[in-house]
Amino acid sequence: MDATLDTAALRDPALRPIGEKVRLGQRLDHADGLALYATDDLLGLGHLADVANRRVNGDRVFFSANQHLNPTNVCILRATCTFCSFARTPKEEGAYTRSLEEVYAEAEQARGAPTTEFHIVGGLHPRLRLAYYTDMLRGLKERHPTVHIKALTAVEIAHLARIEKISEREVLQALKEAGLTSLPGGGAEVFSTAVRATIAERKLTGEEWIRVHRTAHELGIPTNCTMLYGHVETADDRLQHLEMLRTLQDETGGFLTYIPLAYHPDHNELGEELGRVGTATTGFEDLKNIAIGRLFLDNVPHVKTHWPMVTPALSQIALSFGCDDVEGTVVFERVYHEAGARTDMAMGYPELVALIRDAGRRPVERNSLYESVRDVFDDPPPAPARTRSRALPVVHAA
Ligand code: SF4
Repeated sequence: MDATLDTAALRDPALRPIGEKVRLGQRLDHADGLALYATDDLLGLGHLADVANRRVNGDRVFFSANQHLNPTNVCILRATCTFCSFARTPKEEGAYTRSLEEVYAEAEQARGAPTTEFHIVGGLHPRLRLAYYTDMLRGLKERHPTVHIKALTAVEIAHLARIEKISEREVLQALKEAGLTSLPGGGAEVFSTAVRATIAERKLTGEEWIRVHRTAHELGIPTNCTMLYGHVETADDRLQHLEMLRTLQDETGGFLTYIPLAYHPDHNELGEELGRVGTATTGFEDLKNIAIGRLFLDNVPHVKTHWPMVTPALSQIALSFGCDDVEGTVVFERVYHEAGARTDMAMGYPELVALIRDAGRRPVERNSLYESVRDVFDDPPPAPARTRSRALPVVHAA
């Protein structure tokens, strides 16, 4: 309960009863969510989310020294995920599949840098088997024993189970034994069946995505959760999606952070169909989705802003709209840059710290499990700065 929250001062009267619930620490319902999406009182909404966030996280803002690795962009769903600019068919120009040695070579950038997490996602390759991934994880752990591995979306887990003819639980168990720390939250998009029929017809259903994450949580593998917004979905679709995430979190407590992901329309069929180019979402929408995520998912400890999608400047402002978690150093960001993101592919550790400090917050470097690695306020990092990605390593055509 927060006695300092003056709900009478909220400009939009529709926010005042919701503000009372926030003040009392009560759960918001679907109708509250619709009112939040309908309001034009962005500052009032942001204030409510900021109060809710500070109650859990205080002044701390978490970030990670992470490195993204994308072993292949070849994907059997290339034709039906119409929002995706990353995937290729095996013979398509730009298709690549890395050997394990190439993955290890790219990961070598972590040596001498402060990297504490590899974030590994890619396409659903028709021929890469489970052993390719378990060998990869073991090889990375041998070379970088202290680095956590956050790898493979629920969609990739289900794909491996299908081609290996084993259960998703067995896939997850094998990956855990090979060194997996946690799962990323990708592949969720929006759970609505109607939306999926338009943007991701043959992908895992919402219920199947939830099933994979529930299984991971049961095995002691924490996961992240996401929502892709700004395409054909309605506010109702978004809230149903958030309700499904909240329900699973009530059951398992296995989600670490929620990441609203902004749709980018360049170089994908959906963008062409919608007649959009450049950034599809506005800053208003981006901040609203951060704030509503914080207020609605009252049981998920963190809400992350993904700066490669919404820009570092907007991510910094998001820290006053309920957000306590910033995407990390990244090193190579391919997925959203293929879709027209105009941000850099990486951010240096000092720049990330400055972004958080300049917003008046306390930067805390975390690992994949949100354990504090370094409270930068008290303990400045000794590692060298990395400000830009170097040229992408050579890749094999698939
Ligand atoms: S969104 Fe994922 S599953 Fe869909 S085509 Fe792209 S890489 Fe493949």
